[in-house]
Amino acid sequence: MSRVMIIGCGGVASVAIAKCCQNSEVFTELMIASRTKEKCDAAKEKWQGTTKTAITTAKVDADNKEELIALIQEYKPDAVLNVALPYQDLTIMEACLATGVDYIDTANYEAENTEDPEWRNIYEARCKKEGFSAYFDYSWQWAYQERFQAAGITALLGTGFDPGVTSVFSAYALKHYFDEIHTIDILDCNGGDHGYPFATNFNPEINLREVSAPGSYWENGHWVEVEAMSIKSEYDFPEVGKKDMYLLHHEEIESLAKNIPGVKRIRFFMTFGQSYLTHMKCLENVGMLSTAPICFEGKEIVPIQFLKALLPDPASLGARTVGKTNIGCIFTGIKDGKEKTIYIYNVCDHQECYKEVGSQAISYTTGVPAMIGTMMVVSGLWKKPGVFNVEEFDPDPYMEALNRWGLPWVVDENPHLVEV
Ligand code: NDP
Repeated sequence: MSRVMIIGCGGVASVAIAKCCQNSEVFTELMIASRTKEKCDAAKEKWQGTTKTAITTAKVDADNKEELIALIQEYKPDAVLNVALPYQDLTIMEACLATGVDYIDTANYEAENTEDPEWRNIYEARCKKEGFSAYFDYSWQWAYQERFQAAGITALLGTGFDPGVTSVFSAYALKHYFDEIHTIDILDCNGGDHGYPFATNFNPEINLREVSAPGSYWENGHWVEVEAMSIKSEYDFPEVGKKDMYLLHHEEIESLAKNIPGVKRIRFFMTFGQSYLTHMKCLENVGMLSTAPICFEGKEIVPIQFLKALLPDPASLGARTVGKTNIGCIFTGIKDGKEKTIYIYNVCDHQECYKEVGSQAISYTTGVPAMIGTMMVVSGLWKKPGVFNVEEFDPDPYMEALNRWGLPWVVDENPHLVEV
């Protein structure tokens, strides 16, 4: 039995809400709070007749710490699941600290205004020290460790699919298949087709920032940074087929490098079609991916936010997307003195997801683990004071929950390796 507040009501939230409602024995009471209350009311309307979970809704500006604190104090949840945007991570963590409530999210902190001089100074120092230049990193949230410990509350970071399930796969591989893991290749393949020349599968602003940034990987204790999209490989994905994939920087590399002892190399690859890449390059070249405000006809606009308004809403892609995703990790290492390689992955069908919850597979593969991570915390299985990434807990109950709640996984003990 638990009382949970979900913040945000976009693509990922809509699946997390649906899954909490399916799991009403654990999630007895749910508040959906977001910027646009109409979306929360619509979600309540959609699910309340199908579940024993008692749903309430509220309007909240999650950039405003005091507003968050007031709402949390009023509703008194056991935990807050943040599926708004990474921009809101720190205000929501602050509000959880002020109210003594556990915190869960799916993406690490990212500054909304990357031109802010105070943020930029810290960012530039980090680039120099760490050697990767993505706008997002864990340092901001890991810095809350002592305060969460002292408050006796848990922050569970990054319980989506990647980060999230891929990180739990890593903990599971280490626990059951390896004495030492030497390399991890995280593969994120979306074989889905929505029929548009260009659209993003989750929040366009966050997605485009991620893929237009330089790529990087972890090797022998340090970061290696490469030009965006400069490392390409073809991989034959089970149930999807051959796809081109590109090396990207991705946030779980940072936490896995810290939490998987002895790992020598971690890379992340994502598949992209040529049409997506051509559109993205063109938009980047004309300045449409910029986050710096410009003055247009007397009004200040942020180009990437304007672009978001023009692009299809990711939440609307579900009905028209066909095909499957295959996301997982290839591990190499040593077991009982012998070399070993495995691929742990999940395949998810866009149309099956749509039939079940009305969303495409990208929102589904993130929303289901968001619910599972929250369940781990509120059930007490993954609860200890401090700030943790998902791979720091026992992976077994989470892996069982993936099978039960719609993301079954496979262990292939003879996979192809990535050729670069
Ligand atoms: P959407 O843009 O679809 O939804 C974001 C929601 O947050 C919207 O409902 C939006 O409100 C709300 N929101 C934004 N700003 C505020 C604010 N200041 N106060 C209150 N609510 C706010 O994004 P997604 O659902 O695609 O993504 C949600 C999160 O999931 C992101 O952090 C994303 O990075 C993460 N993610 C993680 C993945 C993983 O595998 N780990 C994969 C995909 C996404 P409004 O409705 O008014 O716009």
